[in-house]
Amino acid sequence: MIVQRRKTKEIKLGKVRIGGDAPISVQSMTNTDTRDVLKTVRQIKGLEREGCEIIRVAVPDKIAALGLGKIKKKIKIPLIADIQFDYQLALLALEQKVDGLRLNPGNIKDKKGIKLVARLAKEKNIPIRIGVNSGSLDKKLLKKYKGPTAEALVESALGEIRLLEDLGFEKIKVSLKASDVPRTVKAYKLLAQKVSYPFHLGITEAGTLTGGIIKSAVGIGSLLAQGIGDTIRVSLTANPREEVRVGFEILKALELRQYGPVLISCPTCGRCQIDLIKIAGEVERELGKFPNLNLKVAVMGCPVNGPGEAREADLGIAGGKGVGLLFKKGKIIKKVEEKDLVSALMKEIIAHAHV
Ligand code: SF4
Repeated sequence: MIVQRRKTKEIKLGKVRIGGDAPISVQSMTNTDTRDVLKTVRQIKGLEREGCEIIRVAVPDKIAALGLGKIKKKIKIPLIADIQFDYQLALLALEQKVDGLRLNPGNIKDKKGIKLVARLAKEKNIPIRIGVNSGSLDKKLLKKYKGPTAEALVESALGEIRLLEDLGFEKIKVSLKASDVPRTVKAYKLLAQKVSYPFHLGITEAGTLTGGIIKSAVGIGSLLAQGIGDTIRVSLTANPREEVRVGFEILKALELRQYGPVLISCPTCGRCQIDLIKIAGEVERELGKFPNLNLKVAVMGCPVNGPGEAREADLGIAGGKGVGLLFKKGKIIKKVEEKDLVSALMKEIIAHAHV
């Protein structure tokens, strides 16, 4: 699929470019207590290993804000401070030299305070995300639109954009998150017609693993397929590592990013005589260790259709009875015992990686 991306202004979060022709980045948010610097850094480092490219942390109070500098020094990826309610915390975060701020216009009502934040952010060259959320829209907007509609989300964002633009601040990215897909998609599409700032995509409170992944894939995926979106965060009630994995899978599915090998596996049917579900899980875990490898790997249940159906794959296995076949570009190269299948495949992959 070739997606024509919406033309957006480019901003930079630390070394990571967002918008313009920059690759669509994957971000996540920590769920540790930000005041616990050690724990937060440990979680961020784990996320870096998963490939997370930008990290956001909640800043609930002054202690959390004052710890941001320490966190930033220990991590490699850009650090975003998420500020709700108190603009003073945003000022403190900027002094701690974070790479970006997220402000929720529905929750920071003090316009004078926002102006102070924008001035300091401009001076320090730090971008701001205007993060509109359907759950925290301004009461006036809720009354005007009779609820948190897509139009209300857009108006909230536009009000804040204007406020920042009036101060000459344009290092902006925007998110318009509703907890359901139709409203989120509609809001982003409406705003895309009005501004050229880059968009951060997400479905808020998407849910637990299965439901959340589906909602995010459909919502974020349908916007990306229409060329809308410059950075994504999959919100899941799960370990944030899952958010990063799912984020990359969405981008890979749309062929917008290459990140590690692509795994193809068959659904199995009555012809399958090996424990393919277990094998596919093992192969997936092993492949996760090679984020820089651009390879298609197939795990198929039987030799009847397996190698043929997975002809596009660079390497693959097809199960037999107690044995399996290893194939390369649809051609069988080896027969191995079921217990050795995964290791034989990984050996070939490693050999391939060194070519
Ligand atoms: Fe069934 Fe074989 Fe196709 Fe898998 S590859 S779905 S086992 S026919």
